[in-house]
Amino acid sequence: MLSPEPNRASFVSSLRCRECQRDYPKEALHVCEFCFGPLEVAYDYPAIARALSREAIARRAPNLWRYRELLPLDAPPTVGLDAGFTPLVRARRLGEALGHRELYVKNDAVCHPTLSFKDRVVSVALSKARELGFTTVACASTGNLANSTAANAAQAGLGCYVLIPHDLEAGKVLGTTIYGARVIGIRGTYDDVNRLCSEIAGRRPWAFVNVNLRPYYAEGSKSYGFEIQEQLGWRTPAHVVVPMASGSLLTKIGKSIEEFTKLGFVEAKGRTKLHGAQAAGCGPIAEAVLAGRDAIRPVKKPETIAKSLAIGNPADGPYAAQAIRASGGTAAQISDEEIVEAIELLASTEGIFTETAGGVTIGAARRLIASGAIPADEPTVLCVTGQGLKTQEPLAARAPTLPIIAPRIEEFEALIS
Ligand SMILES: *Cc1c(COP(=O)(O)O)cnc(C)c1O
Ligand SMILES: [Zn+2]
Repeated sequence: MLSPEPNRASFVSSLRCRECQRDYPKEALHVCEFCFGPLEVAYDYPAIARALSREAIARRAPNLWRYRELLPLDAPPTVGLDAGFTPLVRARRLGEALGHRELYVKNDAVCHPTLSFKDRVVSVALSKARELGFTTVACASTGNLANSTAANAAQAGLGCYVLIPHDLEAGKVLGTTIYGARVIGIRGTYDDVNRLCSEIAGRRPWAFVNVNLRPYYAEGSKSYGFEIQEQLGWRTPAHVVVPMASGSLLTKIGKSIEEFTKLGFVEAKGRTKLHGAQAAGCGPIAEAVLAGRDAIRPVKKPETIAKSLAIGNPADGPYAAQAIRASGGTAAQISDEEIVEAIELLASTEGIFTETAGGVTIGAARRLIASGAIPADEPTVLCVTGQGLKTQEPLAARAPTLPIIAPRIEEFEALIS
């Protein structure tokens, strides 16, 4: 008799409280009723181990759904079918500049369709929203989540409401309104926007991708970590440098490594050190790590050009701090000037134009390599999570004035010599 498992749609056993381990049904729930802990998706790993192999994954189409058994849907995905599987670039010239011999850049500046890693989490969240019968989706965003929710909702024919701080970059705003979403600017910080969204979620039948669908949404970030391991030739890196906003991506990269290790897809030669990168003007998780605590002191008034990371009170902050500490990694807080220099360095060495969040990653890597926290010969992956064309404002002052000449060879020769 044939085992039904290779075609089994769902390997999710429940939602489970991260604090008290109580189980909940697979619905639009995100906090534990007993202890207010966050809910996390729990899987039937023995069944996944029987159904999935490296070879099976490698045969599938190059998108994040090649890892579908480890993603939280109960039916085939319907949104974001082409997201993910971005390049892992061997960054030789950046490595030379930073004094490191085995650097890689995981390049989600070219993730489909909206050029940031948020296309991963939104693909999962909107597929889940449809599965649960929602017809309207919404989000609180620092910019990239707004872009991705609006674009994917348009393609899926879902209603879409997006709430953002009023002072985001022009590219992030236009990159949301263009898709026809209802976009509302809030006079306040991201934390104010997020609080308002939690209130709205209690009153309206909307799927807020990062509020009531947060447990499912967050799982999408694991695909970034799965790809890193597969693209390294089914190996775990010695170090990963991850930009942090809520801290979710970092914790999920950690979970992706644990899952592939548990399933025997990678041989972990020693533990991967997770290093967290934040801006100096809003670095509550990095600050806690450097002070040796897991408890987060919220930043009331974030001030940084890295607006996509400007979350003063990060939802997954304590878990990210704990994951960094348990891995043996560390953290860094990068000034706005260092962010801009790092953006230019990555562009001029690797031909990759990243947004401010990527500048935070590269700036942190530079510091951690210089300090010896990342030794020069240990395989290291730098997480570039967004696209530079969306955050041009902080670079405007550095743009050179172009020489303009007549279309004549003499003028060209005069200029060049
Ligand atoms: C949202 C975002 C992050 C960090 O996300 P968290 O999972 O909330 O920590 C990193 N980089 C970019 C470009 C982002 O938009
Ligand atoms: Zn609980």
